[in-house]
Amino acid sequence: MTRLEDPMDGDHPNEECGVFGVVAPDRDVARITFFGLHALQHRGQESAGIAVSDGEHVMVQRELGLVSSVFDEPSLRSLVGHSAIGHVRYSTTGKNKWDNAQPVALPRGDGLVALGHNGNLTNSDALRRRVEDMGHELRATTDSELITALLAHEPGSLLDAVCNVMPLLQGAYSIVALTEDELVAFRDPNGVRPLVLGTVDGGWVVASETCALDQVGAEFEREVGAGEAVRITAEGTESRQAMPATTRSLCIFEAIYFARPDSILDDTAVWQLRHDMGIELARESVPGADLVVGLPDSGTPAAIGFAKESGIPFSEAVVRNRYVGRSFIQPDQELRANGVKLKFNPLVSVIEGKRLVVVDDSIVRGTTTRRTVQMLKDAGAAEVHLRISSPPITWPCFYGIDMADRDELIAVGQTEAEIAAAVGADSLHYLTLDGLQRAVGRPADGYCRACFTGEYPIPVPDASGKERFEAQAAAGAG
Ligand code: SF4
Repeated sequence: MTRLEDPMDGDHPNEECGVFGVVAPDRDVARITFFGLHALQHRGQESAGIAVSDGEHVMVQRELGLVSSVFDEPSLRSLVGHSAIGHVRYSTTGKNKWDNAQPVALPRGDGLVALGHNGNLTNSDALRRRVEDMGHELRATTDSELITALLAHEPGSLLDAVCNVMPLLQGAYSIVALTEDELVAFRDPNGVRPLVLGTVDGGWVVASETCALDQVGAEFEREVGAGEAVRITAEGTESRQAMPATTRSLCIFEAIYFARPDSILDDTAVWQLRHDMGIELARESVPGADLVVGLPDSGTPAAIGFAKESGIPFSEAVVRNRYVGRSFIQPDQELRANGVKLKFNPLVSVIEGKRLVVVDDSIVRGTTTRRTVQMLKDAGAAEVHLRISSPPITWPCFYGIDMADRDELIAVGQTEAEIAAAVGADSLHYLTLDGLQRAVGRPADGYCRACFTGEYPIPVPDASGKERFEAQAAAGAG
Protein backbone atom coordinates (compact mmCIF):
# COMPACT_ATOMS: atom_id res chain seq x y z
CA MET A 1 0.00 0.00 0.00
CA THR A 2 1.18 3.50 -0.68
CA ARG A 3 0.79 5.12 2.67
CA LEU A 4 -0.21 8.75 2.43
CA GLU A 5 1.88 10.36 5.09
CA ASP A 6 1.15 13.64 6.69
CA PRO A 7 4.29 15.36 5.47
CA MET A 8 4.39 17.42 8.66
CA ASP A 9 3.94 14.61 11.14
CA GLY A 10 5.29 11.08 11.18
CA ASP A 11 4.92 10.83 14.92
CA HIS A 12 1.24 10.62 15.58
CA PRO A 13 -1.06 7.85 14.53
CA ASN A 14 -2.86 9.19 11.51
CA GLU A 15 -6.50 10.06 11.87
CA GLU A 16 -9.17 7.64 10.94
CA CYS A 17 -12.65 8.54 9.67
CA GLY A 18 -15.75 10.25 10.99
CA VAL A 19 -19.38 9.36 10.32
CA PHE A 20 -22.59 11.30 10.85
CA GLY A 21 -26.27 10.67 10.20
CA VAL A 22 -29.51 12.56 10.75
CA VAL A 23 -33.23 11.93 10.31
CA ALA A 24 -35.27 15.12 10.69
CA PRO A 25 -38.14 15.50 8.18
CA ASP A 26 -38.72 19.24 8.62
CA ARG A 27 -35.09 20.28 8.80
CA ASP A 28 -32.34 20.99 6.27
CA VAL A 29 -30.62 17.63 6.79
CA ALA A 30 -27.77 18.29 4.32
CA ARG A 31 -26.85 21.47 6.21
CA ILE A 32 -27.03 19.68 9.57
CA THR A 33 -24.76 16.97 8.16
CA PHE A 34 -22.35 19.57 6.79
CA PHE A 35 -21.94 21.09 10.25
CA GLY A 36 -21.73 17.67 11.88
CA LEU A 37 -18.91 16.74 9.51
CA HIS A 38 -17.25 20.06 10.17
CA ALA A 39 -17.01 19.10 13.86
CA LEU A 40 -15.52 15.74 12.85
CA GLN A 41 -12.99 17.18 10.40
CA HIS A 42 -10.09 16.26 12.73
CA ARG A 43 -10.88 12.58 12.03
CA GLY A 44 -10.13 12.80 8.32
CA GLN A 45 -9.14 15.49 5.88
CA GLU A 46 -8.74 13.63 2.61
CA SER A 47 -12.32 13.45 1.41
CA ALA A 48 -15.83 14.37 2.48
CA GLY A 49 -19.28 13.34 1.33
CA ILE A 50 -22.99 13.54 2.06
CA ALA A 51 -25.86 11.28 0.90
CA VAL A 52 -29.44 12.52 1.27
CA SER A 53 -32.76 10.73 0.87
CA ASP A 54 -36.06 12.45 0.11
CA GLY A 55 -38.03 9.21 0.40
CA GLU A 56 -37.85 8.45 -3.31
CA HIS A 57 -34.23 8.96 -4.28
CA VAL A 58 -30.83 8.87 -2.62
CA MET A 59 -28.47 11.59 -3.86
CA VAL A 60 -24.74 11.50 -3.14
CA GLN A 61 -22.05 14.15 -3.35
CA ARG A 62 -18.49 13.27 -2.39
CA GLU A 63 -15.15 14.71 -3.29
CA LEU A 64 -11.50 14.81 -2.25
CA GLY A 65 -10.78 17.67 0.14
CA LEU A 66 -11.98 19.30 3.34
CA VAL A 67 -15.70 19.59 4.16
CA SER A 68 -15.67 23.32 3.50
CA SER A 69 -14.08 22.91 0.08
CA VAL A 70 -16.29 20.01 -1.03
CA PHE A 71 -19.61 21.74 -0.24
CA ASP A 72 -20.89 25.23 -0.93
CA GLU A 73 -24.30 26.88 -0.69
CA PRO A 74 -25.60 25.72 -4.10
CA SER A 75 -24.50 22.12 -3.53
CA LEU A 76 -26.07 22.00 -0.08
CA ARG A 77 -29.31 23.49 -1.43
CA SER A 78 -29.46 20.80 -4.08
CA LEU A 79 -29.29 18.02 -1.47
CA VAL A 80 -32.93 18.04 -0.34
CA GLY A 81 -34.43 15.33 1.84
CA HIS A 82 -35.53 14.13 5.25
CA SER A 83 -32.54 11.99 6.15
CA ALA A 84 -28.82 12.12 5.42
CA ILE A 85 -25.50 10.49 6.19
CA GLY A 86 -22.03 11.99 5.92
CA HIS A 87 -18.42 10.92 6.05
CA VAL A 88 -14.95 12.42 6.38
CA ARG A 89 -12.10 10.17 5.41
CA TYR A 90 -8.52 9.48 6.14
CA SER A 91 -7.40 6.55 3.99
CA THR A 92 -6.54 3.50 6.07
CA THR A 93 -7.38 1.00 3.34
CA GLY A 94 -7.20 2.09 -0.25
CA LYS A 95 -5.39 4.95 -1.82
CA ASN A 96 -6.61 8.48 -1.72
CA LYS A 97 -8.58 8.58 -4.92
CA TRP A 98 -12.06 9.76 -5.73
CA ASP A 99 -13.51 6.24 -6.01
CA ASN A 100 -12.58 5.66 -2.38
CA ALA A 101 -14.35 8.77 -1.09
CA GLN A 102 -17.51 8.05 0.90
CA PRO A 103 -20.45 7.62 1.22
CA VAL A 104 -20.09 4.63 -1.09
CA ALA A 105 -23.32 4.09 -3.06
CA LEU A 106 -24.50 1.00 -4.96
CA PRO A 107 -27.81 0.02 -6.57
CA ARG A 108 -30.09 -1.95 -4.24
CA GLY A 109 -33.41 -3.17 -5.59
CA ASP A 110 -35.00 -0.21 -7.37
CA GLY A 111 -32.94 2.32 -5.43
CA LEU A 112 -29.57 2.88 -3.85
CA VAL A 113 -27.80 2.06 -0.63
CA ALA A 114 -25.20 4.58 0.56
CA LEU A 115 -22.72 3.86 3.34
CA GLY A 116 -20.09 5.62 5.46
CA HIS A 117 -17.61 3.53 7.47
CA ASN A 118 -15.12 4.23 10.25
CA GLY A 119 -12.85 1.29 10.97
CA ASN A 120 -11.09 -1.51 9.20
CA LEU A 121 -12.12 -5.09 8.48
CA THR A 122 -9.67 -7.89 9.16
CA ASN A 123 -11.27 -10.42 6.76
CA SER A 124 -11.33 -8.32 3.58
CA ASP A 125 -9.71 -11.07 1.52
CA ALA A 126 -12.49 -13.57 2.21
CA LEU A 127 -15.20 -10.92 1.74
CA ARG A 128 -13.72 -9.80 -1.55
CA ARG A 129 -13.92 -13.34 -2.93
CA ARG A 130 -17.49 -13.61 -1.68
CA VAL A 131 -18.48 -10.30 -3.29
CA GLU A 132 -16.82 -11.22 -6.59
CA ASP A 133 -18.60 -14.59 -6.56
CA MET A 134 -21.84 -12.59 -6.30
CA GLY A 135 -20.88 -11.01 -9.64
CA HIS A 136 -20.04 -7.58 -8.25
CA GLU A 137 -17.25 -5.70 -9.99
CA LEU A 138 -15.22 -3.71 -7.47
CA ARG A 139 -14.65 -0.07 -8.35
CA ALA A 140 -12.94 1.14 -5.21
CA THR A 141 -10.19 -0.43 -3.10
CA THR A 142 -11.89 -0.15 0.27
CA ASP A 143 -13.46 -2.65 2.60
CA SER A 144 -16.35 -0.16 2.84
CA GLU A 145 -17.33 -1.03 -0.74
CA LEU A 146 -17.36 -4.70 0.20
CA ILE A 147 -19.82 -4.03 3.03
CA THR A 148 -21.98 -1.90 0.74
CA ALA A 149 -22.00 -4.65 -1.89
CA LEU A 150 -23.08 -7.22 0.70
CA LEU A 151 -25.93 -4.96 1.85
CA ALA A 152 -26.95 -4.29 -1.75
CA HIS A 153 -27.23 -8.03 -2.32
CA GLU A 154 -29.50 -8.68 0.68
CA PRO A 155 -33.26 -8.45 0.11
CA GLY A 156 -35.73 -7.05 2.64
CA SER A 157 -35.48 -4.00 4.84
CA LEU A 158 -32.11 -2.35 5.35
CA LEU A 159 -32.23 -3.29 9.04
CA ASP A 160 -32.75 -6.95 8.11
CA ALA A 161 -29.92 -6.73 5.58
CA VAL A 162 -27.57 -5.24 8.19
CA CYS A 163 -28.44 -7.98 10.68
CA ASN A 164 -27.72 -10.63 8.02
CA VAL A 165 -24.43 -9.05 6.92
CA MET A 166 -22.92 -8.24 10.34
CA PRO A 167 -22.03 -11.89 11.13
CA LEU A 168 -19.91 -11.94 7.94
CA LEU A 169 -17.79 -8.98 9.03
CA GLN A 170 -14.69 -9.25 11.20
CA GLY A 171 -12.83 -6.25 12.49
CA ALA A 172 -13.69 -2.74 13.59
CA TYR A 173 -16.63 -0.83 12.18
CA SER A 174 -18.95 1.99 13.10
CA ILE A 175 -21.21 2.51 10.10
CA VAL A 176 -24.10 4.65 8.90
CA ALA A 177 -26.12 3.32 5.94
CA LEU A 178 -28.96 4.98 4.07
CA THR A 179 -31.63 3.87 1.61
CA GLU A 180 -34.67 5.76 0.32
CA ASP A 181 -36.65 4.94 3.45
CA GLU A 182 -34.25 3.80 6.17
CA LEU A 183 -31.16 5.01 8.01
CA VAL A 184 -29.36 2.29 9.99
CA ALA A 185 -26.35 2.82 12.26
CA PHE A 186 -24.38 -0.23 13.40
CA ARG A 187 -21.26 -1.06 15.35
CA ASP A 188 -18.97 -4.09 15.62
CA PRO A 189 -19.39 -6.53 18.54
CA ASN A 190 -16.24 -5.16 20.25
CA GLY A 191 -17.23 -1.51 19.90
CA VAL A 192 -13.71 -0.56 18.80
CA ARG A 193 -14.65 2.66 17.06
CA PRO A 194 -17.01 5.11 18.80
CA LEU A 195 -20.60 5.84 17.77
CA VAL A 196 -23.16 7.92 19.68
CA LEU A 197 -26.84 8.63 19.30
CA GLY A 198 -28.59 11.91 20.05
CA THR A 199 -31.83 13.81 19.56
CA VAL A 200 -32.14 17.04 17.66
CA ASP A 201 -35.18 19.26 17.34
CA GLY A 202 -37.48 17.25 15.09
CA GLY A 203 -35.37 14.13 14.80
CA TRP A 204 -32.39 11.94 15.57
CA VAL A 205 -28.66 12.21 15.03
CA VAL A 206 -25.85 9.64 15.07
CA ALA A 207 -22.16 10.57 15.06
CA SER A 208 -18.64 9.36 15.75
CA GLU A 209 -18.23 11.82 18.61
CA THR A 210 -20.37 13.93 20.89
CA CYS A 211 -18.68 17.13 19.67
CA ALA A 212 -20.67 16.69 16.43
CA LEU A 213 -23.91 16.47 18.45
CA ASP A 214 -22.99 19.72 20.22
CA GLN A 215 -22.23 21.38 16.92
CA VAL A 216 -25.73 20.78 15.55
CA GLY A 217 -27.56 21.46 18.82
CA ALA A 218 -28.37 17.80 19.51
CA GLU A 219 -28.67 16.17 22.94
CA PHE A 220 -26.63 13.08 23.72
CA GLU A 221 -28.87 10.03 24.31
CA ARG A 222 -26.49 7.07 24.51
CA GLU A 223 -23.74 5.13 22.76
CA VAL A 224 -24.76 2.78 19.98
CA GLY A 225 -23.96 -0.52 21.72
CA ALA A 226 -21.34 -3.05 20.64
CA GLY A 227 -22.98 -5.39 18.13
CA GLU A 228 -26.11 -3.22 17.94
CA ALA A 229 -27.94 -2.07 14.81
CA VAL A 230 -30.29 0.91 15.18
CA ARG A 231 -32.87 1.87 12.57
CA ILE A 232 -33.64 5.58 12.77
CA THR A 233 -36.84 6.94 11.28
CA ALA A 234 -38.92 10.04 11.84
CA GLU A 235 -41.00 8.03 14.30
CA GLY A 236 -38.03 7.11 16.47
CA THR A 237 -35.47 4.35 16.77
CA GLU A 238 -35.67 0.57 16.60
CA SER A 239 -32.77 -1.33 18.08
CA ARG A 240 -31.63 -4.89 17.42
CA GLN A 241 -28.73 -6.71 19.03
CA ALA A 242 -27.54 -8.05 15.69
CA MET A 243 -24.46 -9.73 17.17
CA PRO A 244 -23.83 -10.78 20.75
CA ALA A 245 -21.70 -8.03 22.30
CA THR A 246 -18.32 -9.27 23.46
CA THR A 247 -16.21 -7.39 25.98
CA ARG A 248 -16.17 -3.82 24.77
CA SER A 249 -12.76 -2.86 23.36
CA LEU A 250 -12.98 0.86 22.63
CA CYS A 251 -9.77 2.12 21.02
CA ILE A 252 -7.83 3.73 23.87
CA PHE A 253 -6.24 6.10 21.36
CA GLU A 254 -9.60 7.86 21.15
CA ALA A 255 -8.87 9.05 24.70
CA ILE A 256 -5.15 9.68 24.08
CA TYR A 257 -5.23 11.47 20.74
CA PHE A 258 -8.06 11.02 18.23
CA ALA A 259 -11.20 12.37 19.83
CA ARG A 260 -11.68 16.10 20.12
CA PRO A 261 -10.97 17.31 23.68
CA ASP A 262 -14.55 18.55 24.07
CA SER A 263 -16.05 15.16 23.18
CA ILE A 264 -17.32 12.95 25.98
CA LEU A 265 -16.11 9.35 26.34
CA ASP A 266 -17.66 7.23 29.09
CA ASP A 267 -19.24 10.27 30.77
CA THR A 268 -15.93 12.16 30.94
CA ALA A 269 -14.62 14.95 28.73
CA VAL A 270 -11.65 13.81 26.68
CA TRP A 271 -9.80 16.94 27.87
CA GLN A 272 -10.14 15.69 31.45
CA LEU A 273 -8.86 12.21 30.54
CA ARG A 274 -5.77 13.73 28.92
CA HIS A 275 -5.25 16.10 31.85
CA ASP A 276 -5.35 13.09 34.21
CA MET A 277 -2.84 11.24 32.00
CA GLY A 278 -0.51 14.22 32.64
CA ILE A 279 -1.08 13.92 36.39
CA GLU A 280 -0.23 10.20 36.31
CA LEU A 281 2.82 10.94 34.17
CA ALA A 282 4.11 13.44 36.75
CA ARG A 283 3.54 10.90 39.53
CA GLU A 284 5.88 8.57 37.65
CA SER A 285 8.77 10.82 36.60
CA VAL A 286 9.57 14.51 37.16
CA PRO A 287 12.94 15.83 35.95
CA GLY A 288 14.56 19.02 37.27
CA ALA A 289 13.06 21.69 35.00
CA ASP A 290 11.92 25.31 34.82
CA LEU A 291 8.86 25.01 32.56
CA VAL A 292 6.32 22.44 31.40
CA VAL A 293 5.25 22.90 27.80
CA GLY A 294 2.76 20.95 25.73
CA LEU A 295 2.91 20.43 22.00
CA PRO A 296 -0.35 21.94 20.82
CA ASP A 297 -3.04 20.93 20.61
CA SER A 298 -3.13 17.31 21.65
CA GLY A 299 -0.29 17.53 24.19
CA THR A 300 -1.65 20.58 26.02
CA PRO A 301 -4.18 19.05 28.47
CA ALA A 302 -1.61 16.46 29.65
CA ALA A 303 0.99 19.23 30.03
CA ILE A 304 -1.40 21.22 32.22
CA GLY A 305 -2.02 18.11 34.37
CA PHE A 306 1.73 17.44 34.57
CA ALA A 307 2.42 21.03 35.64
CA LYS A 308 -0.25 20.91 38.35
CA GLU A 309 1.02 17.67 39.83
CA SER A 310 4.74 18.50 39.58
CA GLY A 311 4.51 22.13 40.72
CA ILE A 312 6.59 23.23 37.69
CA PRO A 313 4.92 26.17 35.91
CA PHE A 314 3.13 25.57 32.61
CA SER A 315 3.74 27.82 29.64
CA GLU A 316 2.97 27.94 25.98
CA ALA A 317 6.29 27.64 24.16
CA VAL A 318 5.40 26.91 20.58
CA VAL A 319 2.70 28.35 18.36
CA ARG A 320 0.94 26.00 16.03
CA ASN A 321 -0.11 26.96 12.55
CA ARG A 322 -3.61 25.52 12.70
CA TYR A 323 -4.11 25.64 8.96
CA VAL A 324 -1.30 23.28 8.02
CA GLY A 325 -3.34 20.12 7.71
CA ARG A 326 -2.84 17.27 5.38
CA SER A 327 -2.33 18.74 1.98
CA PHE A 328 -2.37 17.47 -1.55
CA ILE A 329 0.51 19.81 -2.25
CA GLN A 330 3.54 17.86 -1.12
CA PRO A 331 6.54 19.90 0.06
CA ASP A 332 9.79 19.61 -1.86
CA GLN A 333 12.91 18.20 -0.20
CA GLU A 334 13.99 21.51 1.29
CA LEU A 335 10.53 22.28 2.69
CA ARG A 336 10.24 18.73 3.97
CA ALA A 337 13.44 19.19 5.94
CA ASN A 338 11.84 22.25 7.52
CA GLY A 339 8.57 20.43 8.06
CA VAL A 340 8.24 21.07 11.77
CA LYS A 341 8.57 24.81 11.31
CA LEU A 342 5.61 24.70 8.95
CA LYS A 343 3.55 23.33 11.79
CA PHE A 344 5.13 24.84 14.93
CA ASN A 345 7.08 27.99 15.59
CA PRO A 346 8.95 28.38 18.91
CA LEU A 347 8.51 31.34 21.27
CA VAL A 348 12.20 32.14 21.73
CA SER A 349 11.69 34.62 24.58
CA VAL A 350 9.90 31.94 26.63
CA ILE A 351 12.28 29.10 25.83
CA GLU A 352 15.73 30.71 25.93
CA GLY A 353 17.94 29.31 28.69
CA LYS A 354 15.14 27.19 30.19
CA ARG A 355 15.10 23.52 31.09
CA LEU A 356 11.88 22.26 29.49
CA VAL A 357 9.59 19.33 30.19
CA VAL A 358 7.92 18.76 26.82
CA VAL A 359 4.70 16.75 27.08
CA ASP A 360 3.38 15.00 23.97
CA ASP A 361 0.76 12.28 23.60
CA SER A 362 2.60 9.66 21.56
CA ILE A 363 5.60 8.86 19.39
CA VAL A 364 5.24 6.64 16.33
CA ARG A 365 8.39 6.82 14.20
CA GLY A 366 10.37 9.48 16.08
CA THR A 367 11.03 11.61 13.01
CA THR A 368 8.89 14.59 13.99
CA THR A 369 9.96 14.36 17.64
CA ARG A 370 13.61 14.57 16.61
CA ARG A 371 12.93 17.72 14.60
CA THR A 372 10.86 19.23 17.41
CA VAL A 373 13.61 18.68 19.99
CA GLN A 374 16.12 20.22 17.61
CA MET A 375 13.82 23.20 17.02
CA LEU A 376 13.52 23.82 20.79
CA LYS A 377 17.29 23.58 21.27
CA ASP A 378 17.88 25.90 18.33
CA ALA A 379 15.51 28.33 20.06
CA GLY A 380 17.76 28.29 23.13
CA ALA A 381 16.31 25.56 25.39
CA ALA A 382 18.99 24.50 27.90
CA GLU A 383 17.50 21.00 28.27
CA VAL A 384 14.58 19.12 26.74
CA HIS A 385 12.97 16.34 28.79
CA LEU A 386 10.28 14.45 26.91
CA ARG A 387 7.31 13.07 28.82
CA ILE A 388 4.87 11.03 26.72
CA SER A 389 1.31 10.60 28.00
CA SER A 390 0.90 7.10 26.55
CA PRO A 391 2.97 3.89 26.72
CA PRO A 392 5.45 3.00 23.94
CA ILE A 393 3.75 1.98 20.67
CA THR A 394 5.25 -1.39 19.76
CA TRP A 395 2.55 -3.04 17.60
CA PRO A 396 0.71 -1.97 14.46
CA CYS A 397 -3.04 -1.34 14.38
CA PHE A 398 -5.33 -3.48 12.21
CA TYR A 399 -8.55 -1.70 13.20
CA GLY A 400 -8.45 1.46 11.15
CA ILE A 401 -5.55 3.51 12.48
CA ASP A 402 -2.60 4.17 10.26
CA MET A 403 0.27 3.75 12.73
CA ALA A 404 3.23 2.40 10.80
CA ASP A 405 4.70 -1.01 10.15
CA ARG A 406 6.33 -2.62 13.14
CA ASP A 407 9.86 -2.11 11.85
CA GLU A 408 9.20 1.65 11.62
CA LEU A 409 8.11 2.05 15.27
CA ILE A 410 10.88 3.75 17.25
CA ALA A 411 9.96 2.08 20.54
CA VAL A 412 10.36 -1.49 19.30
CA GLY A 413 13.41 -3.04 21.01
CA GLN A 414 14.69 0.26 22.45
CA THR A 415 14.91 1.52 26.02
CA GLU A 416 13.71 4.98 27.04
CA ALA A 417 17.35 6.12 27.26
CA GLU A 418 18.06 4.86 23.74
CA ILE A 419 14.98 6.57 22.34
CA ALA A 420 15.91 9.81 24.14
CA ALA A 421 19.35 9.63 22.54
CA ALA A 422 17.85 8.87 19.12
CA VAL A 423 15.63 11.96 19.18
CA GLY A 424 18.22 14.19 20.86
CA ALA A 425 16.37 14.66 24.17
CA ASP A 426 18.04 14.89 27.59
CA SER A 427 15.61 12.36 29.05
CA LEU A 428 12.38 10.58 28.14
CA HIS A 429 9.64 8.74 29.98
CA TYR A 430 6.48 7.07 28.69
CA LEU A 431 3.36 6.78 30.84
CA THR A 432 3.02 3.18 32.04
CA LEU A 433 0.01 1.07 31.08
CA ASP A 434 -1.10 1.09 34.72
CA GLY A 435 -0.81 4.87 34.82
CA LEU A 436 -2.85 5.18 31.63
CA GLN A 437 -5.50 2.86 33.00
CA ARG A 438 -5.74 4.86 36.23
CA ALA A 439 -6.19 8.05 34.20
CA VAL A 440 -9.05 6.68 32.08
CA GLY A 441 -10.66 5.25 35.21
CA ARG A 442 -12.02 2.06 33.66
CA PRO A 443 -10.83 -1.53 33.82
CA ALA A 444 -8.24 -2.50 31.23
CA ASP A 445 -10.63 -4.90 29.51
CA GLY A 446 -12.93 -2.04 28.43
CA TYR A 447 -10.36 -0.89 25.88
CA CYS A 448 -8.32 -2.08 22.96
CA ARG A 449 -4.68 -1.45 23.90
CA ALA A 450 -3.16 -3.75 21.30
CA CYS A 451 -0.65 -1.23 19.92
CA PHE A 452 0.99 -1.23 23.37
CA THR A 453 0.55 -4.89 24.29
CA GLY A 454 0.19 -6.88 21.05
CA GLU A 455 -2.95 -8.46 22.54
CA TYR A 456 -5.47 -7.97 19.76
CA PRO A 457 -9.12 -8.27 20.87
CA ILE A 458 -10.22 -9.37 17.36
CA PRO A 459 -8.17 -11.85 15.32
CA VAL A 460 -5.87 -10.08 12.87
CA PRO A 461 -4.84 -11.29 9.44
CA ASP A 462 -1.28 -11.88 8.46
CA ALA A 463 0.34 -8.51 7.96
CA SER A 464 0.22 -8.72 4.20
CA GLY A 465 -3.56 -9.22 4.03
CA LYS A 466 -4.45 -5.57 3.59
CA GLU A 467 -1.82 -4.99 0.93
CA ARG A 468 -2.95 -8.08 -0.96
CA PHE A 469 -6.56 -6.94 -0.99
CA GLU A 470 -5.62 -3.52 -2.29
CA ALA A 471 -3.32 -4.88 -4.96
CA GLN A 472 -5.99 -7.27 -6.22
CA ALA A 473 -8.72 -4.67 -6.08
CA ALA A 474 -6.55 -2.11 -7.83
CA ALA A 475 -5.81 -4.63 -10.59
CA GLY A 476 -9.51 -5.36 -10.89
CA ALA A 477 -10.43 -1.69 -10.83
CA GLY A 478 -7.79 -0.76 -13.34
S1 SF4 B 1 -4.43 -1.22 18.15
FE1 SF4 B 1 -4.19 0.79 19.18
S2 SF4 B 1 -4.88 2.33 17.68
FE2 SF4 B 1 -5.63 0.30 16.98
S3 SF4 B 1 -7.71 0.15 17.83
FE3 SF4 B 1 -6.32 -0.82 19.30
S4 SF4 B 1 -5.78 0.83 20.75
FE4 SF4 B 1 -6.66 1.79 18.92
